[in-house]
Amino acid sequence: MSHTEKPTILVPGRLHEHAVKRIEALFSIVRLERADAALVAPELAADVRGVAAMTGIDAAFIDALPKLEIIASFGVGYDAVDARHAAKKGVMVTNTPDVLTEEVADTAIGLLLNTVRELPKAETYLRSGRWVGEGNYPLTGTTLRGRRVGIFGMGRIGLAIARRIEAFGLPIAYHNRSRVDGVGYEYHETLLGLAGAVDTLISVAPATPATEKIVNRAVLEALGPNGIFVNIGRGSTVDEAALAAALADGTIRGAGLDVFADEPRVPQELLVAPNTSLLPHVGSASVHTRDAMADLVVDNLVSWFADGKPLTPVPEAVFVQKG
Ligand code: NAP
Repeated sequence: MSHTEKPTILVPGRLHEHAVKRIEALFSIVRLERADAALVAPELAADVRGVAAMTGIDAAFIDALPKLEIIASFGVGYDAVDARHAAKKGVMVTNTPDVLTEEVADTAIGLLLNTVRELPKAETYLRSGRWVGEGNYPLTGTTLRGRRVGIFGMGRIGLAIARRIEAFGLPIAYHNRSRVDGVGYEYHETLLGLAGAVDTLISVAPATPATEKIVNRAVLEALGPNGIFVNIGRGSTVDEAALAAALADGTIRGAGLDVFADEPRVPQELLVAPNTSLLPHVGSASVHTRDAMADLVVDNLVSWFADGKPLTPVPEAVFVQKG
């Protein structure tokens, strides 16, 4: 490819530095403050053939780029990208599945242990000198022993969490819209049914219109007073007001949350609750895994412009062909 033939890739907002460096080396890169259609100047609209983004891409932004062929989104959850609109307009959308699966599953297990065994609180106790001053940290009222684990969203990450939970010797059940072939775990047709059958619910479901606030008061009541809720999926799947109330009134025992509905803002009730363990959306946040995600963003662009074959198209866009 001569320099002039290099496709122009627009990067709105922040993007992982490793991805930026590779895009700079392989393509003609243009940066934009944010993904806002109002910021797209006519020269840009005439040039841009690809978007690489860690941010939301709406229909208006897609419409403002008439030469756009591909949106390479950073992350496996692509709810912030209007993939349906893109696909309708013949624009490919890719995400970064698989390369983050094991990391996110590791984090989910850490969050579960932090919630049940209060490990962050115990560490704070030691660091603040209370072990010396007051003696041993109190015994935790909750344990993983004897628990039944339900996984909401038995997909790539859900299966990786389940493999880890098996090693802990705990029974596993799950809810998806459909059964997973070749998996022996107990299947529940509804989330409510799953919550009623377990005392530990791990959510790793995507944000979609169908999952919006699906973890509601009824689900938490079904989980019950010994219930632990862990969310490593998306915050929008939880009715956070109902969760805060359930934690305060003993409807459930505790919650471990990596994701929130309005990040980085976390509801005050969840921040101050003594029975929550909270993380700032760090499921995949290691240098190793974020570099792998960055590589997959760029490899999708390379593969698309070389032979029209994206490596990891999202389901809405699998039928999109390079024109
Ligand atoms: P995946 O393989 O697509 O799995 C998603 C699972 O959710 C599928 O098994 C799907 O099964 C189920 N599902 C989807 N919609 C549903 C619905 N309406 N009701 C019930 N089940 C539903 O995706 P993944 O790679 O495991 O990632 C899952 C999610 O984790 C991502 O979408 C992302 O939001 C989140 N995530 C978070 C972090 C973090 O840092 N905390 C990192 C990575 C990913 P059916 O299609 O059969 O329903």
